[in-house]
Amino acid sequence: CGIVAYIGSREAYPIILKGLQRLEYRGYDSAGVALLDNTLEVYKKKGKVAELEASLVGKNLHAQAGIGHTRWATHGEPSDRNAHPHRSSSGKLAMVHNGIIENFAPIKKELIGKGYDFESDTDTEVLLHFIDDIYQNDAESLEEAVRIALKRIVGAYVIILLDQDHPDTLIAARKGSPLVIGIGKNEHFLASDASPIIEYTKEVVYINDYEMAIVKPDELVLKNPGNERITPFITKLDMEL
Ligand code: GLU
Repeated sequence: CGIVAYIGSREAYPIILKGLQRLEYRGYDSAGVALLDNTLEVYKKKGKVAELEASLVGKNLHAQAGIGHTRWATHGEPSDRNAHPHRSSSGKLAMVHNGIIENFAPIKKELIGKGYDFESDTDTEVLLHFIDDIYQNDAESLEEAVRIALKRIVGAYVIILLDQDHPDTLIAARKGSPLVIGIGKNEHFLASDASPIIEYTKEVVYINDYEMAIVKPDELVLKNPGNERITPFITKLDMEL
């Protein structure tokens, strides 16, 4: 399973697709991508990355921000609808997740009580609707909503979110699952390991547990759960492709 994301001024889709192929060795049962141009589009499929790619031939995939995912199912069978990215009810947020949300059941019950519909059987969709509910009602920003939501989450995760209303920002967070951010010139690359990033930049930041990243093309802000900024520690990759 793996995650790849891009924000910058290049075409996001080819970078994400190639990145997902580089992460195939980790094993997976489905693949998907969310691309944000003017509107947010989500494409996902059970099976190989190559099958996802084949299903997208001829589509307009123009976007300069996107998130991609290969899934190793833990909650919900491998299927198109359980594949990531998942989308909020408004259609404006998309999220990918690697890991497990252990306490999804009580949160799902609360959300159903509030009228949320679920399109998948995943723990991931529960976290997304939970974040979305806080974003709608109790937070000034998506960043704040993610921070509040994660305080209640038990489990392991790396998540990345795209928001149609803020196309210049990706929000990412991790605990127990890996996340690396590559720093380019007015662009950033996010991935589960450095293999999708190395051909574009050698400067990377390894995100630590409990850190959150607010990623724009020209800015990378890291924060701790107390909303304090952390100075990114930049590592130079010396491995070759
Ligand atoms: N728990 C999530 C699911 O079953 C994510 C699995 C993964 O790490 O790919 O959809």
